[in-house]
Amino acid sequence: MLTGRMMDFPLTLTHFLERSRTFHGSTEIISRRPDRSFHRYTYADFYRRTCRLAGALRRLGVKPGDRVASLCWNHHQHLELYLAVPAMGAVLHTLNLRLHPNDLGYIARHAEDRVLVVDRSLLPLFEKFAGAVPSIERVIVIPDDGPTPSGRLDYEQLLEPEPDTFDFPMLEERAAAMLCYTSGTTGNPKGVLFSHRSTVLHTLAICMADVFGIREADTVLPVVPMFHAAAWGLPYAAVATGAKLVMPGPHLDPTSLLDLMAQERVTIAGGVPTIWLGILALLDQEPKRWDLSSMRTMAIGGSAAPPALIEGFQERHGLTVAHAWGMSELNPVGTLARLKQHHAQADEATKLSLRATQGFPVPFVEQRHVSDTGQVLPWDGSTMGELEVRGPWVASSYYGGEGKDRFTKDGWFKTGDIVTIDPEGYLRITDRSKDVIKSGGEWISSVALENALMAHPAVLEAAVFAGRHAKWDERPLAAVVLKPGQSVAKEELAAHLEKHFAKYWLPDAYLFVPQIPRTSTGKFLKSKLREEYGDYLLKHPQE
Ligand code: ADP
Repeated sequence: MLTGRMMDFPLTLTHFLERSRTFHGSTEIISRRPDRSFHRYTYADFYRRTCRLAGALRRLGVKPGDRVASLCWNHHQHLELYLAVPAMGAVLHTLNLRLHPNDLGYIARHAEDRVLVVDRSLLPLFEKFAGAVPSIERVIVIPDDGPTPSGRLDYEQLLEPEPDTFDFPMLEERAAAMLCYTSGTTGNPKGVLFSHRSTVLHTLAICMADVFGIREADTVLPVVPMFHAAAWGLPYAAVATGAKLVMPGPHLDPTSLLDLMAQERVTIAGGVPTIWLGILALLDQEPKRWDLSSMRTMAIGGSAAPPALIEGFQERHGLTVAHAWGMSELNPVGTLARLKQHHAQADEATKLSLRATQGFPVPFVEQRHVSDTGQVLPWDGSTMGELEVRGPWVASSYYGGEGKDRFTKDGWFKTGDIVTIDPEGYLRITDRSKDVIKSGGEWISSVALENALMAHPAVLEAAVFAGRHAKWDERPLAAVVLKPGQSVAKEELAAHLEKHFAKYWLPDAYLFVPQIPRTSTGKFLKSKLREEYGDYLLKHPQE
C-alpha cells in the first residue's frame, strides 16, 4: 500500500468549540427557564463559561476518562457540559430524567459516575436514587428555578473564580466523549459510549444538505431532550456551524413550542412524533396565530411519523417534515427519508409514501436485513427481516460488555427493528422485533396498521399490538385514542382499514382508551398494552 501523505489531524469536539468562539462569537444561544423567562447570551460568552466549567471540574479532581453525569433539561448550562466535559478528556453521561429512580440508580452506578450536575428543579428526583450510587463524590446544582440549597455546590458560584480560558488537551479522536444508555425496555439499560471521532463524523453528516442541512444561517430548536441520544446531535451541529440555538427548557407543550418557533424565527426543530402531533392539532385549531414562515424543516424520529402527520403539516400549513430513523447505538441518526431527483415527476401519493418511509442511510451508514436464520434478504420492498447496520458511528460493543449477541461476527449491529427495504434502498420499519405480531405463522406489521388508523379523521393516536388467540396464537388488537369530541364505530375503522390491507391483517378488536402508555423516550409502550389487554380475545372470544 502507498500511504497517503496527509495530516492525521484528530477529529475532536474541541475543534467545534474553538470555531464557535473564533468565527461565531456574536451569535445567540437562548434558553427558556422554568419560570418561562429567557436567558440569552452569545457563543463568545458560551466559550468563556465552558472554559470556566472545565477549570472548575479540574479543580474538583475530574480526570480524563472520568464520567460526569448530567440530570438536566435542555438549556445553555447543559450545552456548556456537552462541550467542556469531552473537551477536557472526560466523558459526559446524560441521565434520562423520565426514567424511574431505580433505573437511574442502576445506570449511574453502572457508569460509575464521579460527579453529577443536576438542575435544582430535579433535585427531588436525584435524592430518590442518590443512595444507590456510592461512586458520586460531588453534586453540582444548577439554580434553574431558585437558589441552590445551602450546603450544596452551586454551578454558577463554581464558575465564578475560574479564568476565561482553558488549555484544552490535544485528545486522541478515539477517546470517549459521551455515554448514553438505552432505555432498557427489554432487560437492563445498556451503555453506548460515543467517541469524539464518531460524534464529529455524525455532526458533519447531519449538516449535509441531504440530511438536516444545518448551517450558520439556521436557528436550531432541539425539542428532543439532550438526555436522549444527544438530542440527535443537533446541539453539536449548531456549535459546529455557528447556528443560532434555542433551548426550550422544561416547556415542551405545543403552545410554548409554537411561541418559541415564531418569536425566535426557528428554521429547524427536531422532536418525536407525539410532540409534533400535539403541535399539528393546535395549528389546525388556530392556523393564523403563529407566523412560522421561517421554518425550513421539522425533523421527526424516535418512532414512526404517521403519513397523516407529514401530509397534514405540508398540505394545511406548508411545513416540511424530514423523517429520520436512528437509535442510541448510532450517535444516533442512521437514515433519512428524502425524495430523489427522479421522484419529481411522481404523483403525490407516491411522494408521500416515500417520505413516510424511514428513508435510506446517510453517508457512511450501511444497511442490510436478515432472516431469522441470519440469511441476507433481497431489497424487494416486501420481504421482512431484522435491520443490521454498520458504520463509524455505530456501536462496536456496549459499555460494560453486555448484549454481545447484538453484534454479528462479520461486523454488523443488530438493531432489533423489523424492516423491508425497497430496490432503491428505502427502509420501512414494520415493527420492533419484541413487538411483532405473529398470526398463524405470518407477520403482521403493527406500524402499517397504526399509520392507516391515524389517517382516519376521528383518530388522534392508535397503537396496534399482539393479543393472545386460541387458534392463531396471536392476533392484532388496536388501542385507539379519539380526537376530543369525536366518536367512531368499530365497523367504520375496520372498513377504513379494509381499503388498504388483506382481511387477515385487520385487528380483531378496537379498544377505545384515553391515552396510550409510553416509554421514557416517547415510544408506544406495547409491553404495557399486552400486559393489560393481551388476554382480551381469550376473555371475549365472540369478537
Ligand atoms: P431505546 O432503544 O432505548 O428505546 P432509542 O431512542 O435508541 O431508544 O430507540 C431506537 C428505536 O426507536 C429504533 O430501534 C426504532 O425501533 C425506533 N425508531 C427510531 N426512529 C424511528 C422512526 N423514524 N420510525 C420508526 N421507529 C423509529
